[in-house]
Amino acid sequence: MINNAFNEDLLHAVHEPTQLRFGVSRYYAGLATCADPTADPIAAQYVPQAAERDVRSYEDPDPIGDMRYTVAPRLIHHYHDRALLLVNDNCAVYCRHCFRRHFTGQRAGSITAAELEQVCSRLARMPQVREILLSGGDPLMLADTELFALIDRLREVGDYLIRVCTRIPVVLPQRVTDPLCTGLGRRLPAWVVLHVNHPRELTEAFAAAVRRLLGAGMAVASQTVLLRGINNRTSTLEALFSRLARLGVRPYYLFQADLATGTAHFRTPIEQGLNLMHTLRARLSELALPVYAVDLPDGGGKVPVESALLRTEEDSYVLRGPDGREYRYPRETLSEV
Ligand code: SF4
Repeated sequence: MINNAFNEDLLHAVHEPTQLRFGVSRYYAGLATCADPTADPIAAQYVPQAAERDVRSYEDPDPIGDMRYTVAPRLIHHYHDRALLLVNDNCAVYCRHCFRRHFTGQRAGSITAAELEQVCSRLARMPQVREILLSGGDPLMLADTELFALIDRLREVGDYLIRVCTRIPVVLPQRVTDPLCTGLGRRLPAWVVLHVNHPRELTEAFAAAVRRLLGAGMAVASQTVLLRGINNRTSTLEALFSRLARLGVRPYYLFQADLATGTAHFRTPIEQGLNLMHTLRARLSELALPVYAVDLPDGGGKVPVESALLRTEEDSYVLRGPDGREYRYPRETLSEV
């Protein structure tokens, strides 16, 4: 775990009677203008709401099928040349829309030495894997020494491209220290993929953290979740993607929100996502335009909505999966959510 200086910046609390624990860094809470999740797009991302108790029959704590594709402890192999490793379950902020709530904040702790050896043994039998995604939880909640040792051990197995999937530069940018960046810079090739949802998250502290990562030789991209009442407006997304590109961060994916348990209040209709992309395409350079994508239910995999959508039916969107099968994503009416 990261050292005490950073831990003191984290406001953690006992489990709420919802399925995701509560926790937020003082820094991120300080970006909110008020603590009312219905009135502020930052507060809405970390303050639990009663709506989380509204659980739909098609929702799942593991909506993208992590467990189905787990091939060794914490190792998920869903896509041919990539594998995802859940290195720890801690986050500096527990996002109320988190799709990995079956694992995140469930006190699994950091990967153990024995688990890592099982992972390496499995990877040694997977020569098709060329890229390892470090995720969790948030991998930058590990101490530098733990993180570097983990990457070094993985690189003993294969010359992997490392992808660090993190929200830390957004929610605790002070954690992106010079020693962290220097250490990561000695372990290239590596990408840092950020989770960033709102222009108000792009503070000067965030920009400085990005500059440190870029200065160390990292490539930096971003993912955004389309969230009702938080960023589902053209002006908000335009400002977000435009500013990210100017900071040197490549907007990579805009995700349709997953069918995670108790998150219906965050989801938007797919028609709205398509309309937003249509408008953004006319306003933004291709360098600032992410792909609008959805993780299909039942572990069907990630697809670009615009090319995978086959038809819209009364109660569902029908999309073509990577395996050629048809998958249904529910069409929720506004009154439901
Ligand atoms: S930082 Fe990522 S893993 Fe952690 S709660 Fe947020 S979305 Fe989930």
